[in-house]
Amino acid sequence: MSQPDNYLDKEFQITKDFQRFNQKNDIFNRAMWDDTVDPKKFFISYDIANYAPKKSKGFDHWDYAMRNASWHMTDVVGEMKFKTEGRVEGFTDYYSIQTAGPPSKAILPSLEETTRRIKKAATALGAGMVGICTLDRRWVYTNNYSRKDQTNPKLDLPASLKYAIVLILPMDYDLSKTIPSALGGSTTGLGYASSLNTANALAQFITNLGYEAIASLNDTALNIPMAIEAGLGEYGRNGLLITPKYGPNVRIAKVMTDIPLAIDQPISFGVKEFCGHCRKCSDGCPVKAIAKDAPTSVAPNFSSLSHITKWTVNAERCFKFWVGMNSDCSICIRVCPYNKDYTKWWNRLGIKLANSPLRKFMLWLDGKLKFGERYTAKWWWEK
Ligand code: SF4
Ligand code: SF4
Repeated sequence: MSQPDNYLDKEFQITKDFQRFNQKNDIFNRAMWDDTVDPKKFFISYDIANYAPKKSKGFDHWDYAMRNASWHMTDVVGEMKFKTEGRVEGFTDYYSIQTAGPPSKAILPSLEETTRRIKKAATALGAGMVGICTLDRRWVYTNNYSRKDQTNPKLDLPASLKYAIVLILPMDYDLSKTIPSALGGSTTGLGYASSLNTANALAQFITNLGYEAIASLNDTALNIPMAIEAGLGEYGRNGLLITPKYGPNVRIAKVMTDIPLAIDQPISFGVKEFCGHCRKCSDGCPVKAIAKDAPTSVAPNFSSLSHITKWTVNAERCFKFWVGMNSDCSICIRVCPYNKDYTKWWNRLGIKLANSPLRKFMLWLDGKLKFGERYTAKWWWEK
């Protein structure tokens, strides 16, 4: 496989043995075919008619009702073609809901102006941040996975798609404070609902201009490397993209397209150095799924990539915790010192301190001021 000499190759020491990911090995898909990954009642808990409320706070009928409502549109739209074609759009397959475009293409202004307009449209359609990279096929999955009939066909993505417009959708900060809880899981559901809307509307906009565009959430290709290439953030110890505007409390979506665009460059604002000192996510993870030591090129299991040097979350341990809780977790988002409300000036100052020789002081202050502590579901409901 050809290895372009780009930022990610150097930053993550990608070797010639690197292999593209097969979506069948995603931990959620493994739960469908691999007996060692038992989902128990995890997926059923997303069905309000059959879920099992718990006595513990944050997991009662109201909390699950809210979480499952936050997922409603994403589920309904994503599973429209499940019965007929086995597609789970947004999770195992890209969206196929765009209305066909006109026979002729719109006249494009300069590359810079076209790019500016696309970014303006993406922002107006709901993206908190937008970046563009070339579509590096190494991040595209080798195969799809059908949760309907357990087939694993070769992934079919038009060769004409040259760029990825990567979209950052901020998640709800207050809800993130109540993690882990069923209520806190609403922040994820709401993030996906925004992603669904923004990515599909942007894909339709580009289609309306007469160009090809495919909207995608977690399906089809890995989001994080594309988001890094598109200059939207840095990679954290918690295995997540950390953005300068919303920290790790985001979802990532993408629109793959053939409309000519100017690409962005990766950014650095001190995350790698800060994570080198901080262990809040690895200390906070209840199942020790996040490494405390230096990045490594050996994946903990086949649900992650090898031959690329990075911090990697142990997806098997992580998912097992979710299953036990009947909700997603994201403690590693809640406790992260980058998870802040950046509309406040003092938090913007904090992110500057994190990227300075005072980073250890910032880390100490973060703990002293009790950022990252868990709030109750009651606090959220009564706020
Ligand atoms: S989501 Fe929870 S269990 Fe999974 S890695 Fe993060 S803290 Fe650990
Ligand atoms: S909690 Fe600390 S170590 Fe973990 S990703 Fe955030 S800054 Fe990095």
